[in-house]
Amino acid sequence: MIVSLKENADAAAVLRALTQRGLWVARVEHSAGKPAHYVIAPCSAGASPSELSSIEGVSSVSTDKPSFPLVERQGPAVDVAGAKVGGGAVALMCGPCSVESEDHVMRVADKIAPLGVTFLRGGAFKPRTSPYAFQGHGAPALKWLRRAADRAGMKVVTEALSEADVPLVAEHADLVQVGSRNMHNYALLKAIGRTGRPALLKRGMAATLDEWLLAGEYLLANGSRAVIFCERGIRSFDESTRNLLDLGAVALLAHVHKLPVVVDPSHGAGRRDLIAPLARAAVAAGAAGLMIETHEEPSRALSDGPQAVPLDDLPALVRGLGARVGGLS
Ligand code: PEP
Ligand code: MN
Repeated sequence: MIVSLKENADAAAVLRALTQRGLWVARVEHSAGKPAHYVIAPCSAGASPSELSSIEGVSSVSTDKPSFPLVERQGPAVDVAGAKVGGGAVALMCGPCSVESEDHVMRVADKIAPLGVTFLRGGAFKPRTSPYAFQGHGAPALKWLRRAADRAGMKVVTEALSEADVPLVAEHADLVQVGSRNMHNYALLKAIGRTGRPALLKRGMAATLDEWLLAGEYLLANGSRAVIFCERGIRSFDESTRNLLDLGAVALLAHVHKLPVVVDPSHGAGRRDLIAPLARAAVAAGAAGLMIETHEEPSRALSDGPQAVPLDDLPALVRGLGARVGGLS
């Protein structure tokens, strides 16, 4: 249940009235000028919606499930450090899978910025299936990524893999990425939320849409200024592609929930020959942006080489989208 307060309500008094009834209550903060909500876990017994509506200061009680009030009110366009994602041009987030060296990421940044790429991507902390695979260069890679993006006039998006990484990643990134494997890591979502930074929330590879939206709610409820959802493919029975890119979910998020959703065809397909057609399909489905891995020499990439679009092929891919790209104001 969601209990919404009147503009002039005494929030502490309403909270007392709710907790006196033995209810489990979470407060959801809103930006200045907007009244607070209290969310009551559905499992809490002992009070009916109509009885709770009679508490002094309560404007309405909603029993809609699942409850993601902050996600629903966010809207389709968000601002990330002066860059707009949603509601117009297609925001491009491109770069290598992993930040491999300072020189490497600098060269990539210099080549992609003139194409209208708004965000430079690249992992400093890498979630790898094998513990023996390259794990990322860590803290130094964050500095390289930031310098490269600043020099080329781009924003930075990079993943925070664990709670311990969050402060350092938030210091260097404009947009903090939550990886697919971590979408259900609620402690990490809370820690990222507390930084206030906008977040790019990748869909868990076996997550339902409700779970994904609720993960977004975790970020916003804990302080993230904005959440951008990123569809990156889900597990399927068919191994012809690395994952199954769920463009139905993209259309649903974009057109029904009216949220900014970015599509990552690189992890979705896992093979470079499918990236361009899937990118066009994603834009047609309503994507506000695209995350695409690119590399100067994919066969030498330290991670995800098979899905990297050669840097020299990226201009044709971007032109082939037939969409306005950008977002820097
Ligand atoms: C990535 O974008 O670098 C990444 C690891 O993606 P995912 O979390 O979607 O697997
Ligand atoms: Mn990758």
